[in-house]
Amino acid sequence: MMEGKIAVVTGGFRGIGKAIALELARNGADIALLDVGSSEAGEAAVSEISALGRRAKAYSCDVSDFSSVEAAFQKIGEDLGKLDILVNNAGITRDKLLLAMKEEDFDSVIGVNLKGAFNTIKQAYPIMMRKRSGRIINVSSVSGMMGNAGQANYSASKAGIIGLTKTVAKELAGRNVTCNAIAPGFVSTDMTVDFEGKEEFLNAIPLKRFAKPEEIAKLVAFLASEDAGYITGEVIRIDGGMAM
Ligand code: NAP
Repeated sequence: MMEGKIAVVTGGFRGIGKAIALELARNGADIALLDVGSSEAGEAAVSEISALGRRAKAYSCDVSDFSSVEAAFQKIGEDLGKLDILVNNAGITRDKLLLAMKEEDFDSVIGVNLKGAFNTIKQAYPIMMRKRSGRIINVSSVSGMMGNAGQANYSASKAGIIGLTKTVAKELAGRNVTCNAIAPGFVSTDMTVDFEGKEEFLNAIPLKRFAKPEEIAKLVAFLASEDAGYITGEVIRIDGGMAM
């Protein structure tokens, strides 16, 4: 289905990003992973993707750093070719009530979660514009739609992603490029292993469980596919009914 396509997945060394990379590879895409994680984690992800018969490369890249992203995209172009699919998944949390939240807690979360997506889209935009095709999928969160006590920085970054998504969708629609966001609720990853109030949140989820990363990956793969060509500027909740 995605044979010959090149996909860039940020934060792809582990968690949801790795599940997305594997699912896109299963669908036939070659994969570039951008991450700040350890080289061992990068190599492990690359070998899992390669075992599926696809080309894969790991790039050490801090998405919040414009020049680091620019250099990584340059390298990806040389190594794999011009990208077709961009998944902005890299994200961090620095949760605290706003009263205790430090300026650097706010700046770092906005820097990775929101500016990181701007930085990669800035690189992908001209490539997709010239190709007259492309898929951009940004990972937001229900926290960006509902707000969440203790997450002023995170919620703002994830709400910002929605505005960015809709704007890019409008700017690139004439070039046959779609841009959508997904808004997961809770997903079982290292980010949600343990946190205060976990039981309470579980009770607030109508489906009474967290999502598996693979379930998020299936939605991203659909949005990245040819079949999703008439969906753009959309925000799709995948939250077990939590935010309905
Ligand atoms: P995760 O397990 O913490 O993995 C995040 C990945 O991103 C890690 O590999 C991390 O590297 C990498 N990363 C962090 N900062 C980066 C940077 N500056 N540049 C490049 N890569 C960076 O997170 P996850 O749970 O898979 O979440 C993935 C995305 O889904 C995030 O955007 C998150 O906000 C969103 N989301 C998650 C949930 C959830 O319940 N888990 C719910 C809604 C939305 P390190 O290994 O060095 O940390």
